[in-house]
Amino acid sequence: MSYDYDDQNIFARILRGEIPNDTVLDTPHSLAFRDIAPQAPAHVLVIPKGAYVTFDHFAQDASDAEIVDYVRSVGEVCKMLGVAADGWRLIANAGRDGVQEVPHLHVHILAGRDMGRMLEPAD
Ligand code: 5GP
Repeated sequence: MSYDYDDQNIFARILRGEIPNDTVLDTPHSLAFRDIAPQAPAHVLVIPKGAYVTFDHFAQDASDAEIVDYVRSVGEVCKMLGVAADGWRLIANAGRDGVQEVPHLHVHILAGRDMGRMLEPAD
Protein backbone atom coordinates (compact mmCIF):
# COMPACT_ATOMS: atom_id res chain seq x y z
CA MET A 1 0.00 0.00 0.00
CA SER A 2 1.34 3.46 -0.84
CA TYR A 3 0.26 6.56 1.04
CA ASP A 4 0.16 10.15 -0.25
CA TYR A 5 1.56 12.62 2.26
CA ASP A 6 0.50 16.29 2.02
CA ASP A 7 3.47 18.27 3.31
CA GLN A 8 1.30 21.38 3.74
CA ASN A 9 -0.71 19.81 6.58
CA ILE A 10 -0.70 21.74 9.85
CA PHE A 11 1.51 19.28 11.75
CA ALA A 12 4.12 19.28 8.96
CA ARG A 13 4.13 23.06 9.34
CA ILE A 14 4.54 22.73 13.12
CA LEU A 15 7.49 20.37 12.55
CA ARG A 16 9.09 22.92 10.20
CA GLY A 17 8.70 25.61 12.86
CA GLU A 18 6.23 27.63 10.75
CA ILE A 19 3.52 27.45 13.41
CA PRO A 20 4.13 27.60 17.19
CA ASN A 21 3.19 24.77 19.51
CA ASP A 22 3.13 24.08 23.24
CA THR A 23 5.78 21.35 23.33
CA VAL A 24 5.63 18.67 26.01
CA LEU A 25 8.39 16.38 24.68
CA ASP A 26 10.87 16.60 21.81
CA THR A 27 12.90 13.50 20.88
CA PRO A 28 14.98 12.55 17.84
CA HIS A 29 11.97 11.03 16.05
CA SER A 30 8.87 12.34 17.84
CA LEU A 31 7.22 15.53 19.06
CA ALA A 32 4.49 15.82 21.70
CA PHE A 33 2.51 19.04 22.15
CA ARG A 34 -0.77 20.19 23.66
CA ASP A 35 -3.88 20.10 21.49
CA ILE A 36 -5.07 23.57 20.54
CA ALA A 37 -8.68 22.64 21.41
CA PRO A 38 -8.37 20.32 24.42
CA GLN A 39 -11.20 17.87 25.00
CA ALA A 40 -10.02 16.87 28.47
CA PRO A 41 -8.00 18.55 31.24
CA ALA A 42 -4.92 16.93 29.70
CA HIS A 43 -4.91 16.55 25.90
CA VAL A 44 -1.55 15.96 24.26
CA LEU A 45 -0.82 14.94 20.67
CA VAL A 46 2.21 12.79 19.87
CA ILE A 47 3.47 12.82 16.29
CA PRO A 48 6.39 11.18 14.52
CA LYS A 49 8.78 13.62 12.84
CA GLY A 50 8.70 11.51 9.68
CA ALA A 51 6.13 12.00 6.91
CA TYR A 52 3.50 9.41 7.84
CA VAL A 53 -0.21 9.85 7.26
CA THR A 54 -1.71 7.22 9.54
CA PHE A 55 -0.76 4.59 12.09
CA ASP A 56 -0.91 1.85 9.45
CA HIS A 57 1.37 3.90 7.17
CA PHE A 58 3.82 4.31 10.07
CA ALA A 59 3.65 0.60 10.94
CA GLN A 60 4.39 -0.29 7.31
CA ASP A 61 7.20 2.17 6.48
CA ALA A 62 8.81 3.55 9.65
CA SER A 63 12.18 2.28 10.83
CA ASP A 64 12.49 0.31 14.03
CA ALA A 65 14.24 3.31 15.60
CA GLU A 66 11.30 5.58 14.76
CA ILE A 67 8.77 3.09 16.08
CA VAL A 68 10.62 2.53 19.34
CA ASP A 69 11.08 6.27 19.82
CA TYR A 70 7.39 6.93 19.14
CA VAL A 71 6.04 4.28 21.49
CA ARG A 72 8.47 5.28 24.23
CA SER A 73 7.45 8.92 23.74
CA VAL A 74 3.81 8.04 24.42
CA GLY A 75 4.90 6.36 27.64
CA GLU A 76 7.11 9.28 28.60
CA VAL A 77 4.29 11.78 28.09
CA CYS A 78 2.02 9.65 30.30
CA LYS A 79 4.73 9.72 32.96
CA MET A 80 5.10 13.50 32.63
CA LEU A 81 1.33 14.00 32.90
CA GLY A 82 1.11 11.59 35.85
CA VAL A 83 -1.90 9.78 34.41
CA ALA A 84 -1.11 6.13 35.16
CA ALA A 85 -2.96 5.96 38.47
CA ASP A 86 -6.32 7.39 37.35
CA GLY A 87 -6.20 6.19 33.74
CA TRP A 88 -6.22 7.80 30.34
CA ARG A 89 -7.22 7.21 26.72
CA LEU A 90 -5.18 6.82 23.54
CA ILE A 91 -6.90 7.63 20.23
CA ALA A 92 -5.54 7.45 16.68
CA ASN A 93 -8.00 8.57 14.00
CA ALA A 94 -7.24 7.50 10.43
CA GLY A 95 -8.77 8.52 7.13
CA ARG A 96 -12.35 9.29 6.17
CA ASP A 97 -14.22 6.86 8.37
CA GLY A 98 -11.84 7.50 11.25
CA VAL A 99 -12.65 11.21 10.84
CA GLN A 100 -9.01 12.25 10.77
CA GLU A 101 -8.75 16.03 10.50
CA VAL A 102 -4.97 16.39 10.12
CA PRO A 103 -3.31 13.95 7.68
CA HIS A 104 -0.09 13.45 9.65
CA LEU A 105 -0.06 10.56 12.13
CA HIS A 106 -0.89 11.65 15.64
CA VAL A 107 -2.17 9.91 18.72
CA HIS A 108 -4.27 11.78 21.24
CA ILE A 109 -3.45 11.25 24.92
CA LEU A 110 -6.52 12.27 26.92
CA ALA A 111 -6.71 12.32 30.69
CA GLY A 112 -8.02 14.13 33.75
CA ARG A 113 -11.69 13.17 33.57
CA ASP A 114 -13.94 10.17 33.04
CA MET A 115 -13.78 9.65 29.26
CA GLY A 116 -17.18 8.01 28.99
CA ARG A 117 -17.94 5.21 26.56
CA MET A 118 -15.45 4.58 23.79
CA LEU A 119 -17.65 5.46 20.82
CA GLU A 120 -20.72 7.58 20.28
CA PRO A 121 -23.15 6.36 17.64
CA ALA A 122 -22.68 8.07 14.26
CA ASP A 123 -25.43 10.54 13.29
P1 5GP B 1 -7.85 14.41 14.38
O1 5GP B 1 -9.30 14.69 14.25
O2 5GP B 1 -7.10 14.57 13.07
O3 5GP B 1 -7.55 13.10 15.05
O4 5GP B 1 -7.29 15.48 15.40
C1 5GP B 1 -6.63 16.64 15.02
C2 5GP B 1 -6.39 17.44 16.29
O5 5GP B 1 -5.45 18.46 15.99
C3 5GP B 1 -7.63 18.12 16.86
O6 5GP B 1 -7.85 17.67 18.19
C4 5GP B 1 -7.30 19.61 16.78
O7 5GP B 1 -7.78 20.33 17.89
C5 5GP B 1 -5.78 19.60 16.73
N1 5GP B 1 -5.20 20.73 16.03
C6 5GP B 1 -5.59 21.21 14.81
N2 5GP B 1 -4.81 22.24 14.46
C7 5GP B 1 -3.90 22.40 15.47
C8 5GP B 1 -2.83 23.32 15.68
O8 5GP B 1 -2.54 24.20 14.87
N3 5GP B 1 -2.13 23.17 16.84
C9 5GP B 1 -2.42 22.21 17.76
N4 5GP B 1 -1.67 22.15 18.87
N5 5GP B 1 -3.43 21.33 17.60
C10 5GP B 1 -4.16 21.44 16.46
